[in-house]
Amino acid sequence: MTDKPQTPTLKPCPFCGGEASLSQAASDPAYGHDVCCTLCLGGLHSMSESPTDAADLWNTRAQPTPEPREPTDAELQEVKLALRSEVFPSEAAAAVWHIIARQLRGGQ
Ligand SMILES: [Zn+2]
Repeated sequence: MTDKPQTPTLKPCPFCGGEASLSQAASDPAYGHDVCCTLCLGGLHSMSESPTDAADLWNTRAQPTPEPREPTDAELQEVKLALRSEVFPSEAAAAVWHIIARQLRGGQ
């Protein structure tokens, strides 16, 4: 009994949600593999001889970054304490500190 090689599972296209297909880039697997969306043609080329490596690349999704938010009063207090020493590595850093300090005091 021979084991048939498993076809890697591909997630839908990250751009349009279309179905993706995996293929060897050339007759020699040393040229790698391509994954391509069948709708929008978005895709990637993997230089790996392993189709699983190409599928893993395709299936990797970026994690969304958290939405920016206003700092809490406690966080602002921490920043104030950390910056209280007013020891600056450069005049530019000192200038930035004075802008931040003015904003922390309420724009005065
Ligand atoms: Zn697509």
